[in-house]
Amino acid sequence: MINLLIFGPPGAGKGTQAAFVAQKYNLKHISSGELLRQEAKDGEFKDEVAKYLDAGHLVPDELITKIIKDELEDTDKKQGVLLDGYPRTIKQAEFLDSLLKDNNRQLNLVINLELEDDIAISRIMSRGENSGRADDRSEIIKKRFHIYHQETEPLLNYYKNQKKLKHVNGRPDVEAVKKELEETIEKLLNK
Ligand code: ADP
Repeated sequence: MINLLIFGPPGAGKGTQAAFVAQKYNLKHISSGELLRQEAKDGEFKDEVAKYLDAGHLVPDELITKIIKDELEDTDKKQGVLLDGYPRTIKQAEFLDSLLKDNNRQLNLVINLELEDDIAISRIMSRGENSGRADDRSEIIKKRFHIYHQETEPLLNYYKNQKKLKHVNGRPDVEAVKKELEETIEKLLNK
C-alpha cells in the first residue's frame, strides 16, 4: 500500500493531477478543498466555513483536522490514500504524522508540483471565469498566495528532512505532467 501527498501552490494543477493519480493507482483521493467546499454547502458549520473559504483564509486547524481524521478512519484499511491540500501548516503536518501512525499508515512520498506564482495566478484567473469559486478573484488570489508562502511552503523543508520530497515541474501541459508523475511514482513502486 502506498500513501501519497501532493503539494504545491494554488493553481499548480494539484486537483487535476491528484484525480488522475488516485484513479491510476487506486488510491482514495482526499482533497481538503473539496471537503471544505462540501462542508460550506451543507455542513454543520457551513456559514463559518464559507466565510474562511470566500476570504481565502485557512480554516482553523482543529476543523480541517477533524474532517481529515474522519475521512482517514472511513477509508478501507487496505486502500492507500492520496492527500491533496492537507496539510497546509506545520502543525497540521505534525498532527498528520501521528494520525497516520494511529491508522497504521505512513507517507511514502510527497510530490511538490512546482509552478511560479505569475503562471499559477494567470491559470487561476482564467479558471475563475467558469469555476464558480468565490475565491478565484484577484484580491483573494493574492491573499491565498501570501498564505501559501508564509504558512505552507515551510512544509517543503519538513518533508525534505524526512527524505520524502520529490519535485515535479507543473509548467508543461496536463498530459506531460501526468507522465512525469507516473514516472516518479513508478520509481517508488519499483524500489
Ligand atoms: P487552492 O490550493 O487552489 O487554493 P484548495 O481547493 O486546495 O485550493 O483550497 C481552497 C481553500 O480551502 C483554501 O483557500 C482554504 O481556505 C481552505 N483549505 C483547504 N485546505 C486547507 C487546510 N489544510 N487547512 C486550512 N484551510 C484549508
